[in-house]
Amino acid sequence: MKWALIGASDIAATQILPALRQLGHEPVVVVGSDGERAARYAVRNGVGYGTTSIEEALAAGVDAAYVSTTNERHAAGVHAAVGAGCHVLCEKPLAPSLDQARAMVDAAAGAGVVMATNHHLRNSPVIAALRGLVADGTLGRVLGVRVAHTNLLPERLRGWRLGSEAGAGVVLDLTVHDVDTVRFVTGMEVLEVAAIGVAQGMSGLDAVAVAGRLGGDGADATLHLHDAFTTPHARTAFEVFGTTASALATDAMSQTPDGEVVLRRADREEVLVDVGERENLYVRGLRAFAEAAAGRGDPPCTGEDGVRSLAGALAVTESLMTGRRVSLGIAGDIA
Ligand code: NDP
Repeated sequence: MKWALIGASDIAATQILPALRQLGHEPVVVVGSDGERAARYAVRNGVGYGTTSIEEALAAGVDAAYVSTTNERHAAGVHAAVGAGCHVLCEKPLAPSLDQARAMVDAAAGAGVVMATNHHLRNSPVIAALRGLVADGTLGRVLGVRVAHTNLLPERLRGWRLGSEAGAGVVLDLTVHDVDTVRFVTGMEVLEVAAIGVAQGMSGLDAVAVAGRLGGDGADATLHLHDAFTTPHARTAFEVFGTTASALATDAMSQTPDGEVVLRRADREEVLVDVGERENLYVRGLRAFAEAAAGRGDPPCTGEDGVRSLAGALAVTESLMTGRRVSLGIAGDIA
């Protein structure tokens, strides 16, 4: 598959390009807003060439575009790509607003191309194992979910993410992943959230605690999220509490296929769950995206999934701003 990279970003260099190479895909061109930097980026990262012209890049015989500019610029990249008839993999969050995100998904559907959201955690063997334990009934009915997405943001990423403009901040960076992963693991929707944020020295708001409610198909479950840029010594974790058993995945909210899943029953029996092959998350996701582009199935995370995760994250933002509980409608609208 031939790719245009829209955005000369860190994530493209550190994760996507190595994964594309491993799969034998061809990164033809990278688009950046500074021509010299884009050219240097292309040389350094083994991309055919760099340009500032998105139109030129999309006319270079590419099948797909990967959009990883800063969040407020994703929409422009996606609209250009689908307008040129390219399949598109867009980074999360799709956009700073739901209207923009929905318009992106509608444009891709109208053009008949695949649009996917890069919620890479769906490709984690640890997260997939948790989903399997819910789906095959091992855990029984889900009573609650607790997520610790607690990192120390690397120095090199402490730029626009820490700003106060739309599209920045811990919620659109980390909470949006949590919402998607919770939906993926449990099959439930986030119905209600209440959030508290704190400032721990990195930016105006760099850690949040969210209490929420999950539901769907008559289910009613609790949700706890702890998302932070500021925690140097924490392990990330994703825990699902069920009526028959509970499962705890440690080091689960990660870019690597590491981590363990332990199943625990009331008799205190603990079993280490076999998570299967520990393949690179981005390789797994890009392979599935290419399959979807070839007409075989859906990508791991669709554009619509990206709209849903954004709706949850924006509900958390609204709760932080108003100090109130925020309900979400069934279609992801803030009720
Ligand atoms: P970066 O800051 O590395 O890149 C974003 C944009 O900033 C680039 O497209 C580039 O603009 C500009 N930029 C980057 N470095 C420089 C520089 N040295 N000088 C001038 N401009 C620069 O962002 P990330 O890679 O961290 O994130 C990009 C997107 O990917 C975000 O949407 C983020 O949420 C998402 N992301 C997803 C992850 C995942 O695993 N799913 C992980 C990390 C990020 P231009 O291209 O116009 O030149």
